[in-house]
Amino acid sequence: MKKHLLFLGPPGAGKGTQASFISESNAYLHLSTGELLRQEVDKKTTLGIQIKEIINSGKLVDDRLVLEIVKQNLASNKKGWILDGYPRNISQADSLTKVLSDLNQPLEKVFYLNLDEEILVQRLINRGRTDDNEKIIRTRLDIYKETTQPLIAYYKNLNILEYIDGDRDLKTISDDIKQKMAS
Ligand code: AMP
Repeated sequence: MKKHLLFLGPPGAGKGTQASFISESNAYLHLSTGELLRQEVDKKTTLGIQIKEIINSGKLVDDRLVLEIVKQNLASNKKGWILDGYPRNISQADSLTKVLSDLNQPLEKVFYLNLDEEILVQRLINRGRTDDNEKIIRTRLDIYKETTQPLIAYYKNLNILEYIDGDRDLKTISDDIKQKMAS
């Protein structure tokens, strides 16, 4: 059973939902950088206020800051893990490779969840987070296409990419992921 996993895909594809479900059923750590950043926002610290502004513009938070969060959470973790929302660009992917090599926990599989763009937009509008209005959603999708999508080829070249059709019901998708984790 694979235990060092990454979920990749556009905002709204269901990464968070699937990552929580799979991590709970395997007692793995679910490391969502978006969730950890939102927790910092909720603390209303100076840093939190800066992060809030970036999240609500739909742009990406500074690579170094997110890397610190990831490092801290992985270093203190003794279980399997699922990364959700990290890395978001090639530079973050390179940093991650280095961190994981230092920890001796190489990434075993990357699940790429995808969905039709208009379904994504509709789903996000219905979700209703503070960064889920249509203008911000379009910015996030543009940034996704420009900076995050190249990671698909990056992990494909490493032979660890698995494509998951996100346009199915939750259970069918999680069964598919579980089956692919076992091989
Ligand atoms: P998410 O919950 O993954 O949709 O992330 C929400 C927001 O948090 C993103 O739009 C970014 O502003 C920020 N964020 C999350 N993960 C990262 C990351 N790996 N790098 C930079 N910014 C991030």
